Amino acid sequence: MIAIAVAEAVNAGKAWLDAAISAFHRCEGAFSLVIGTPDGLMGVRDPNGVRPLVIGILETEAPNTPTQYVLASETCALDIIGAEYLRDVEPGELVWITEAGLASFHWATQPQRKLCIFEMIYFARPDSIMHEESLYSYRMRIGKQLAIESPTDVDLVMGVPDSGIPAAIGFSQQSGIPYAEGLIKNRYVGRTFIQPTQSMRESGIRMKLNPLKDVLVGKRILIVDDSLVRGTTSRKIVKALREAGATEVHMRISSPPVTHPCFYGIDTDSQDQLIAATKSVEEIAQQINVDSLAYLSWEGMLLATQEDPNSFCSACFTGDYPIPVPEMVKRSKLMLEKQPASTSV
Ligand code: SF4
Repeated sequence: MIAIAVAEAVNAGKAWLDAAISAFHRCEGAFSLVIGTPDGLMGVRDPNGVRPLVIGILETEAPNTPTQYVLASETCALDIIGAEYLRDVEPGELVWITEAGLASFHWATQPQRKLCIFEMIYFARPDSIMHEESLYSYRMRIGKQLAIESPTDVDLVMGVPDSGIPAAIGFSQQSGIPYAEGLIKNRYVGRTFIQPTQSMRESGIRMKLNPLKDVLVGKRILIVDDSLVRGTTSRKIVKALREAGATEVHMRISSPPVTHPCFYGIDTDSQDQLIAATKSVEEIAQQINVDSLAYLSWEGMLLATQEDPNSFCSACFTGDYPIPVPEMVKRSKLMLEKQPASTSV
């Protein structure tokens, strides 16, 4: 009976489904979409599954109530409304949700798994589940790997709030060096990395993190961050830690150097703005004024990830873009980035 009802719902929504699938065949790039129509709800991922999209089920206590499906970019959103995670929308899949149930269409001719590895490292919340474990656990594991690769003699390990904290705890557990909170985050300021202009990023950092002097004074600190993109944030953080009384500041980054821009929806600037694209690790250490700097190795990240490395987009680290990027797109990104702040879009 349910199968018949779902088939009827698909038939009723045929015009929407045909139009959407025809449009998606003409789209190239990374997209995860939820589209509401009068006849049903659509969830769709691009053929490479670069951005996540998950399906949940909302339990209802009323008898004879149809299953209520929900869609979200991350599983933490399901937890908030009390929904159970069912599964991911697959790369190149469209799900059509109506009161009759859920129908699935695999519309892409050559789907493959190329989840953005930065979702694992930074973008997604640590309380979300990906690859059957919380990102908190994953980020702790890359912190442990970082401690194995780049130990140093310090008094305290700290994380840059919030995204560097799980890796810092992992580093602390692996190395036996005590973990401490030395920076308090203002929770009303957005992510500085995603602010569109340099001046907004710099003022965002000043408002965002406040050092705890009584924790830091006279201490040799090792601070862990998830990534180092332009160096702007790191330089300010190191300055603040030294001014608060830290006698040494060492930095560890729980991902490899970011050397290539993202063309799949993340504002990472053009290549000449990425500090690791133009400077050596020693030069970066000098620029951000740390006593030592080390990144997680590429091999270490793969080891900690415990998944087939081919199932990720990791173009930021390798320049190996899973979806071809036309030269015109590369140039237009560069042109937009070069616009003065007042005229940029
Ligand atoms: S280029 Fe980098 S940020 Fe963009 S999708 Fe790939 S891994 Fe993610």
